[in-house]
Amino acid sequence: MHDQLHRPAITVHDDFTICRCDWCETLLSPDTAVCSSCHSTEISRTGSPGCGSIVSWTVVEVFASRTSNDRVPQTIAIVALDEGPWTYAWITGAPRANGKAPIRVRYHHMIPGEPYPMFVLQATR
Ligand SMILES: [Zn+2]
Repeated sequence: MHDQLHRPAITVHDDFTICRCDWCETLLSPDTAVCSSCHSTEISRTGSPGCGSIVSWTVVEVFASRTSNDRVPQTIAIVALDEGPWTYAWITGAPRANGKAPIRVRYHHMIPGEPYPMFVLQATR
């Protein structure tokens, strides 16, 4: 007989998940602990297609690797997911504002040891 292991609340895997309130079913950003709608702390994870638009972004300097003192520019953005919640995400490539057209991005992968997912710019047209 095997004991069923309890799964941790946040598992590290390569699917993009966001939070959903167990009580009112509001969809919430991936790092939410308390529902913004009903203040419940009973939050589950649910899969997300990981598509959205950049709300705002900035370029920061990060270490190129754990063993390097070299710094490289990296874009961090606030992404409005198509389902509604906003999330922080690293962006591969440099977003360019194109008039009022939204800058579309798509989930790419989770970075080990990093709380925010990596998104990539989606080709328009
Ligand atoms: Zn709720």
